[in-house]
Amino acid sequence: VPIDLVTCSVEHYCTSAPNDFDVIYHLASIVGPAAVLSRAGRIAESILRDTYHMIRLAQRCRARLVNVSTSEIYGGGSGGYCHEETPRVIRGPASARQEYAAAKLAAEVALENFSRSGRLDAVTVRPFNVSGTRQSGRGGFVLPRFVGQALLELPLTVFGDGRQVRAFTDARDVADGLMLLAERGVAGTAYNVGNPANRITILDLARQVLGFPVRRPPSSTSIPARFTGPITPKRPTSSPTQGV
Ligand code: UDP
Repeated sequence: VPIDLVTCSVEHYCTSAPNDFDVIYHLASIVGPAAVLSRAGRIAESILRDTYHMIRLAQRCRARLVNVSTSEIYGGGSGGYCHEETPRVIRGPASARQEYAAAKLAAEVALENFSRSGRLDAVTVRPFNVSGTRQSGRGGFVLPRFVGQALLELPLTVFGDGRQVRAFTDARDVADGLMLLAERGVAGTAYNVGNPANRITILDLARQVLGFPVRRPPSSTSIPARFTGPITPKRPTSSPTQGV
């Protein structure tokens, strides 16, 4: 499939784009601990402004809008679990993470209300922790950080007691989920996309990375740009580190 790659702001793109889209996937966002922390104070404006540009573009084209959100909107849930019925309490004190969560929640609610009024056809998708080839540790995401540290034979940095649980999903499965929901998702509805089979504590993830058979690059002095362990193409993934 031919792809047109345009590098510009969301605002510029949305105001000058043609009116002939059927589906718009809105993934443009500040994301990841490194980006969120460095943009504190500007996160809410950026997320909401870009979402409204996308809304207007989708309305102009009469296109379906697939909005990518985050599990951060649950505000951490209650007792370690997040339910749709639980009040969404995004706890203070003020922080970059709180600003990110509140802005994403506001964007979700605006899309849902717009869709209910019949003035927009939008679905929201919340991908849970994504993993895959070429994911960079620079964003602060745990798995590429662990892999990078292991390759350099550095200690792995487990934050807290490591008992926090995550469920990692292969990027290709997330892409399939996005396309499926673009096709079949009910307007005004939010969907969580993840792989419960990969539920793991961060401490066990660190152990799994350390136990992974790594083929190191030939020179011990070179800094490896990529993980060169075995790649198993089968999908969906049955282990968080599979395919990395
Ligand atoms: N984490 C960690 N060491 C790191 C980076 C992250 O222990 O070097 C932990 C982090 O505290 C969190 C989990 O790994 O509990 C997942 O972090 P990530 O930023 O990848 O995703 P998110 O917190 O958004 O689920």
